Amino acid sequence: MSAQLAPAVRGLLSPSVLSWLDKPTLGPFIDGSWRTARSDTLIDVIDPGTGLPVTAYAASSAEDVSDAVAAARRAFDDGRWSEQDPEAREQTLRHLADLLEKDAEVVAQLEALDTGKPLAEARLDIDEAIAVLRYYAGWATKVEGTVIPAPRRFFATSTREAIGVCAAITPWNYPLPILMYKLAPALAFGNTFVAKPSEQTVLSTAYFAQLCATAGIPDGVVNLVPGAGATGAALTATQGIDKIAFTGSTRTGQAVMRAAADTLTRVSLELGGKSPQLVFSDADLDAAIDGVMGGIWTNAGQVCVAGSRLIIDRRVHDEFVAELVSRTRRLNLGHGLAPATNLGPLVSAAQRDHVVSLVDQAVAAGANVEITAELPDDRGFFVAPTVVTGARPGQSIEQEEVFGPVLTVLPFDDEDHAIQLANGTDYGLASAVWSGSAARVHRVSRRLRAGTVWANTYGVFHPTLPFGGVKASGFGRELGSAAVDHYTELKTTVIDL
Ligand code: ADP
Repeated sequence: MSAQLAPAVRGLLSPSVLSWLDKPTLGPFIDGSWRTARSDTLIDVIDPGTGLPVTAYAASSAEDVSDAVAAARRAFDDGRWSEQDPEAREQTLRHLADLLEKDAEVVAQLEALDTGKPLAEARLDIDEAIAVLRYYAGWATKVEGTVIPAPRRFFATSTREAIGVCAAITPWNYPLPILMYKLAPALAFGNTFVAKPSEQTVLSTAYFAQLCATAGIPDGVVNLVPGAGATGAALTATQGIDKIAFTGSTRTGQAVMRAAADTLTRVSLELGGKSPQLVFSDADLDAAIDGVMGGIWTNAGQVCVAGSRLIIDRRVHDEFVAELVSRTRRLNLGHGLAPATNLGPLVSAAQRDHVVSLVDQAVAAGANVEITAELPDDRGFFVAPTVVTGARPGQSIEQEEVFGPVLTVLPFDDEDHAIQLANGTDYGLASAVWSGSAARVHRVSRRLRAGTVWANTYGVFHPTLPFGGVKASGFGRELGSAAVDHYTELKTTVIDL
């Protein structure tokens, strides 16, 4: 790599980040070392805040992918990781978490530069990744088997074993935390790993791969194949993978699942969302406004659980929206690394154009659109926070995942109507209920079709809390004890007494 940063951005980065960006190392990381990709396809790393290229890397070819899977397979089969004592794996993963913590500011700056998100948000992401790694490090020594009450002639047990080679295909919005939801439990239980980060955000994953080697994770246990959709497709078509964990769009998730049918590989899919926030008039409306804002403006709305539909009691609709718009106007839209920024650009020009076109369609269909900020410049991929009112249920702005800072507001007349609107999309990832009535919170939570319901709060993630969707938002739960099922397989042993 050779960093070609805008001077103003260069001045915001620490010397360690700059020297890392200048090292010519970014490519496939296989069997413990950096390789030259066997492909001519170069992909630019772009700073979304300026639209300028920072550096470039060669996309991994199908041959690179095949080498990475073969390395992970060898590393699994010879037991260099899976047959270590669980306590040893726990200690190595804790050491890795300590190294990540030591370099947290470097990784946060790389993440902010690569994704465009505000540095303060990137710092929280890295903290989350560290917490998830530590949480699953502890699980290495906690999973136990059972003795089964089979007929008395037999002694039968059920034990949990690593499943083998696990692959992850991850998106651009939370590169390191989403990688960690998959990698940390996989490694804790003794599996080996191949990571394919989003082509738009490879920096933090590449930095982390290097840390894995420094932490003493044996060669071949963690491999990285940076590249775009073609590299991901090559990964899903490669024989020798036992599980693929995917986070991304519903359409790509379907392609991953189709490909996995041919190789009979297990999949878990965390896909898109169109998550509703239901605000009842008996709620603490002041807190609800902040909760709705956090739910949609965080990471400029590029969040799978973005609370992109505000479903609100008609009686408080106007005053709530007016106050929300007024508070939103106080946000600072700017470059992610600039200290005053609390709302960054979108990740790419294509994503910005996609979001703008969905808003234009909503306007053409008769909705009212409130744009709450001036754009800082015309080079970065900025979209101002946008509030859409007067949309009809069923319209595309109300149904499709926008993945940008666009909040669609729908009024409801009563509780049944609110729930009908909330459940009225193909998705079912997250949802929220804002109400001062405990009975209403329970009643409504029960009827919401979503993997997560937050009540009087939004976006709470924690290593202990299982996360995933229903309907077009996918299946399988990451985080918490739920991940044990994904990264271990049951072995039944029957001994004739
Ligand atoms: P997003 O729009 O959130 O980027 P995508 O689903 O396009 O969602 O991308 C998520 C991840 O899937 C990225 O790492 C991307 O490179 C990868 N990807 C894209 N197309 C394919 C494919 N056909 N097979 C496997 N992975 C893919």
